[in-house]
Amino acid sequence: MSVDIMKDIMNLSKNRGFVFQNSEIYGGLANTWDYGPLGSELKNNIKKAWWKFFIQDREDMVGLDAAILMNPRVWEASGHVSNFNDPLVDCKECKERFRADHLVEKTLNIPTANLTLKELNDLIQEKDDIVCPSCGKRNFTPARTFNLMFKTHQGVIETDKNIIYMRPETAQGIFVNFKNVLNSSRKKVPFGIGQIGKAFRNEITPGNFIFRTREFEQMEIEFFVEPGTELEWHEKWMEASKIFFTKILGIKEENLQFREHDPKELAHYANKTVDIEYKFPFGWGELEGIASRTNFDLSRHSEFSNEQLNYHDSKTGNTYIPYVIEPSFGADRTFLTVLIDAYTVETLPDGKERTVLKFAKNIAPVQIAVFPLKKNEPSIVNQSREIIKMLQKKFTVAYDDTAAIGKLYRRQDEIGTPYCITVDFDTVEKDQKVTVRNRDTMEQERIAIKDLPAYFEKEFEVEW
Ligand code: ATP
Repeated sequence: MSVDIMKDIMNLSKNRGFVFQNSEIYGGLANTWDYGPLGSELKNNIKKAWWKFFIQDREDMVGLDAAILMNPRVWEASGHVSNFNDPLVDCKECKERFRADHLVEKTLNIPTANLTLKELNDLIQEKDDIVCPSCGKRNFTPARTFNLMFKTHQGVIETDKNIIYMRPETAQGIFVNFKNVLNSSRKKVPFGIGQIGKAFRNEITPGNFIFRTREFEQMEIEFFVEPGTELEWHEKWMEASKIFFTKILGIKEENLQFREHDPKELAHYANKTVDIEYKFPFGWGELEGIASRTNFDLSRHSEFSNEQLNYHDSKTGNTYIPYVIEPSFGADRTFLTVLIDAYTVETLPDGKERTVLKFAKNIAPVQIAVFPLKKNEPSIVNQSREIIKMLQKKFTVAYDDTAAIGKLYRRQDEIGTPYCITVDFDTVEKDQKVTVRNRDTMEQERIAIKDLPAYFEKEFEVEW
């Protein structure tokens, strides 16, 4: 898949109402995007599928919806105030700005996660291969660190004393509520808490459409386990994630890879991290990180707050700080992945091309479209409306009568609608049957109106 595909997908996103540039009438705000009518449906469907699969359908999971703004001590305890930094360098020639670690990583092909700023700087100054990706020259400023948290002020007076942060991840809202959830839900370890919400990072190099933005949405889980069992659970969470991506969201398995962090790349508190990566048109990129974070976060919050965030196992009599497995997904990146993976351009037998978004049926923004063969024939229109009313109870259904049937099919293909129903004269005058057309096979069959709910129930069933 070439990089040009990204342009096609961005155009389709704009033209068909999936993703718009934010504040476009004012010239936009760099790397900020809005989800349009179909995009917001698709994104909601992805989030709903995640919530159902990982939270509602599991007995060992509960949900949470914590605030974006938190006591600033949270971010001191989590290490974000002192460590959530990226190293940046500027090219003095063309004034472009880069992540120093990415520059070194890409040119020398070595992990940089645990290099100090001085080590990065030395490499950039010493290695002649490291040149500006924009202009090809070698004239960089020294690398300096930059904290990625967005700051704001709480209250009317802006002083250093009332600085608060826009959360850079949703995870900490879960850790600080560990005791609240434990006491109110009576869950027993092993159990987990999941939440979906906005996060903000003042990224140095955002880009690739919605892949890396400064405002984004995460879908995160903290799963609490007994120390010593964490690697077993890590394995289970990798399996669950794979099922979610391939069976629930329908992403092709060959476009996914599991990449384990090597010891040099691992965060100091983690004893295993695996990234699930997708083969984007611009290269492999992280979709989800699954980290085994030991008891780092709960220990730090126990140290910084007045609360001991431990767990008493009434069966064994042991009290301990649980270890944590953190599967962390990005909702926007998952959206981009689903869009790219579904995007197909086919040549038909008559030589014409059709663009189809082959979404998994359960997450398609429109699941069934209904067309009247003749838009000013009351009996056909009324029958169409009745079918919509009947199917709307279970499915997302749209009505369209603004073009000829062939054109309407193409439009629905382009937005990924799995089924189209056409109501014609035979339907109302003869057999009470409609034509159901399948997006992927383009085959059509006649189905009795009364059988439609059962037919679609079966067609939309998710098996895994
Ligand atoms: P990256 O290496 O791409 O910056 P990360 O390792 O910092 O990602 P995590 O902190 O593990 O990312 O965040 C978990 C998930 O949140 C990522 O897998 C990704 O899906 C999503 N995510 C993180 N940063 C962004 C961003 N700037 N824009 C969109 N999604 C993001």
